[in-house]
Amino acid sequence: MFRETLIGAWSLLVGMKVTLSHVLRAPVTSQYPRERIEMSKAYRNVIRLIEIDEIGSHDCIDCQACVRVCPSDCIKVEGERPDGMRKKRATLFEVEFALCSECGLCLDVCPTDTLGYSREYDQAGFRRDDFLYDLLDEWRDKEADVRTRLREDEAKKAAAKAAAASKAAAAKKAKEEATAAAGDTGDVAVEGEV
Ligand code: SF4
Ligand code: SF4
Repeated sequence: MFRETLIGAWSLLVGMKVTLSHVLRAPVTSQYPRERIEMSKAYRNVIRLIEIDEIGSHDCIDCQACVRVCPSDCIKVEGERPDGMRKKRATLFEVEFALCSECGLCLDVCPTDTLGYSREYDQAGFRRDDFLYDLLDEWRDKEADVRTRLREDEAKKAAAKAAAASKAAAAKKAKEEATAAAGDTGDVAVEGEV
């Protein structure tokens, strides 16, 4: 009995020593969900649309390449060609994250590089609908402004292209006229010699 009491007391002291040694160390866990940690750059989670600097928005042009390549068939994209614009803009970008395997094929084929991985790590839900996201939701508020700016940019580029074409045509015409004039002068000189 005395021996068992001694073993119990010793065990208690060892346990308290371990506890006290950790009291003085920095914690290695976080108090989730009150504390949220920043994930490393290498962390990958479900896909998202990323901002392209020149546009100030996503650049999904509804090309359907990601839809076709997705092995899980979990992407649905719809789009339209806004008035006065050459390129299309996506109007719906639905992803069923419960099916996404994060394989990255959609990122690889996107011609505008507007797909990336999100840093989210706590998607949870009870129903299938809880994992159905429209990735355009976070972009809709500024879509009208983006379209206005894109129209203006396209109009400026078209005007610059037309001006350059007109300048090139004028230069070509001037060169042709100069060549013709030189030919006329040559003929006269030949006639004078005769
Ligand atoms: S990461 Fe893979 S599975 Fe997920 S949406 Fe893209 S192509 Fe589909
Ligand atoms: S591949 Fe890129 S541009 Fe094409 S529909 Fe998908 S996200 Fe949009």
